[in-house]
Amino acid sequence: MLSHLGLGSKVKLSWKLTSITKADNQGYVLGYETPEGLVSVQAKSVIMTIPSYVASDILRPLSIDAADALSKFYYPPVAAVTVSYPKEAIRKECLIDGELQGFGQLHPRSQGVETLGTIYSSSLFPNRAPAGRVLLLNYIGGSTNTGIVSKTESDLVEAVDSDLRKMLINPRAADPLALGVRVWPQAIPQFLIGHLDRLAAAKSALGRGGYDGLFLGGNYVAGVALGRCIEGAYESASQVSDFLTKYAYK
Ligand SMILES: Cc1cc2nc3c(=O)[nH]c(=O)nc-3n(C[C@H](O)[C@H](O)[C@H](O)COP(=O)(O)OP(=O)(O)OC[C@H]3O[C@@H](n4cnc5c(N)ncnc54)[C@H](O)[C@@H]3O)c2cc1C
Repeated sequence: MLSHLGLGSKVKLSWKLTSITKADNQGYVLGYETPEGLVSVQAKSVIMTIPSYVASDILRPLSIDAADALSKFYYPPVAAVTVSYPKEAIRKECLIDGELQGFGQLHPRSQGVETLGTIYSSSLFPNRAPAGRVLLLNYIGGSTNTGIVSKTESDLVEAVDSDLRKMLINPRAADPLALGVRVWPQAIPQFLIGHLDRLAAAKSALGRGGYDGLFLGGNYVAGVALGRCIEGAYESASQVSDFLTKYAYK
C-alpha cells in the first residue's frame, strides 16, 4: 500500500519515538528506537499523532504544563472479541432474504446488554467466513465497564455469546468458535467536560515554551471517528504547510 501511495521508504514502521528536543538552530531532534537501533532525525516541524498519554511522557522534559494537560485525557479499555457461528444459529427474525444483512448493531446501556456493539464482519466484507458461517466482531468494555481488563479471554467470549443469545443468536445454538480476543487497555479518548480546555492548555503551554512548528494531532485532537481523524490530518498538514512557508522566509 505504501508504494501505491508513492511514500515508499519515507514511512518508517516499528520506529518508536522516545525523545524530542529542540535543535540548536531551528526545528527539533527526534530520538527513535528502531529495529536497526537508535536513530535520530532532525525536522523543521513535527506533528505528534501518538496517544495523548504517550505525548505527555515524551513532552514532559520540554513543558511540564503541556505534559500535565495531556496526561488528563481519559482512555477507557475496550476488548474486541471475534466469534463465528454457523448461519443456522442466527435467529430467523434477524435474517433478510435468508441472509444476515447490514453493518451490525449497537446496544444502548438501557437494554441491559453488556456488549457495546456487534459488527457483521462477514456481511460487510467478502471472504471473512466460509460458506455457511458468519463472523461477528464484538466490542465490550468502555467507561462504564472497565472491569473487562481483569477478565480472561474465555470470560469475555462467554459474556459476548450470552448477550448475542438475547437478540441475534438462537439460545440453543452450539458454542461459537472464538477466533480472536484483543483487549485495548487504553482504547478511545473520551471527550469529557473540560476536554477542549485541557487541549487548549496543552497547545498554549507549547506556544509559551516557544515550541513553534510542533503540532498535536490524532483522535484526542480531531475527534474519535476515523473520518474526523482523516479530516484532522488535512488540518494538521495545512498547519505545517503554513508554518513552513513562514519558516522559509525567515
Ligand atoms: C476497538 C475500537 C473500535 C473502533 N471502532 C471505530 C469505528 O467503528 N468507526 C470509527 O469511525 N472509529 C472507530 N474507532 C476509533 C478510531 O479507530 C480511532 O479514533 C482512530 O483510529 C485513531 O486514530 P489515531 O491516528 O488518532 O490513533 P491510533 O490509530 O491509535 O494511532 C496512534 C499510533 O501511534 C503509535 N504510537 C504510540 N506510541 C508511539 C511512539 N512512542 N512512537 C511512535 N508511534 C507510537 C501507535 O502504535 C499507533 O499506531 C475505534 C477504536 C477502537 C480502539
